[in-house]
Amino acid sequence: MKNLVVDILRNNERFEIVTHEGPDEDAVGSSRALAFGLLSMGKKVKIVYPTPIPDSLLFTSAPKNQKDVKPQISLLLDVSDMNMLGGFHPRGEIVIVDHHKTDITAGMTCWIDPGKSSASEMVYDLLRALEIEITQAMASNLYLGIFGDTGGFIHVNTTPRVFRIAYELTRGGADPNLIAYRVRRSKSLTYYHLLSMVMDRMMINDGVYASYISLAELKRIKARPDDASGIVEEMASLAGAELVIFLKELNPDTVHCSMRSKTGQSALRTARAFGGGGHERAAGITLKGRASEKIEDVIEEGLKWVNKG
Ligand code: 5GP
Ligand code: MN
Repeated sequence: MKNLVVDILRNNERFEIVTHEGPDEDAVGSSRALAFGLLSMGKKVKIVYPTPIPDSLLFTSAPKNQKDVKPQISLLLDVSDMNMLGGFHPRGEIVIVDHHKTDITAGMTCWIDPGKSSASEMVYDLLRALEIEITQAMASNLYLGIFGDTGGFIHVNTTPRVFRIAYELTRGGADPNLIAYRVRRSKSLTYYHLLSMVMDRMMINDGVYASYISLAELKRIKARPDDASGIVEEMASLAGAELVIFLKELNPDTVHCSMRSKTGQSALRTARAFGGGGHERAAGITLKGRASEKIEDVIEEGLKWVNKG
């Protein structure tokens, strides 16, 4: 299906690149790199972020966003659930390029490959297939996305191929030290305040470690939603935690739940039970209700799956 996407990119002129709300390193990196590539072919491109890019990811080069593109094609990157578009309605014919297992693609043009580390790795493949010269701006953005989705080259998706591509991107001008420091060494003090609250109220049941943060608490310490990103990874660093569950209230009746499992598939299994999704070891759900109430349900479901492969 990659070839079909390559043909579509070649044969159309006006594109909208759409990624998910709360854009992360992969969303930002893959969309910017592809936009640079299409612009270098003389195409018209606009990137749509349903919610703003966090300040910590603004450092890599951004292509000039073109205004009235009237897209023929809306290319969705790193989107495995239409709910992740934050209500945005794509205006062109939808084409999906993603590395998540997803079932949203029935009847749609798509290239889905859960064997790929990231949407950025897939954009690298597209740029190569289109014989586009990979500039420093493209390389930096692709490296950012791969670094983000492999957790800094530690997750199971860190394949030999990932290292080969990272090597190519580094040779092409991506700066691994700059990117790693900007991503990892850019936490706010507020983040550590949040982290201490989350650690303080950790609920431990067998290998299931769960915690949450409420909207009122976020407001009290003037935290922005971005400030909590990374907390679930810290929870997963705890010895003994097989499945970690972190709930964050987004508004008075919506809570986002992030999960990580250390070995088996309990994160994905638990997420699926509530209509969520993701990867075997990193999954999420968006739930209606309050964090302090929903957490019990998620723990109960998690306990069914932990240590069951
Ligand atoms: P995170 O915990 O970093 O927000 O998300 C981890 C993974 O879970 C993401 O890569 C994404 O695939 C998936 N994910 C996160 N939130 C949701 C959600 O609300 N719905 C679905 N279907 N997947 C999600
Ligand atoms: Mn991704």
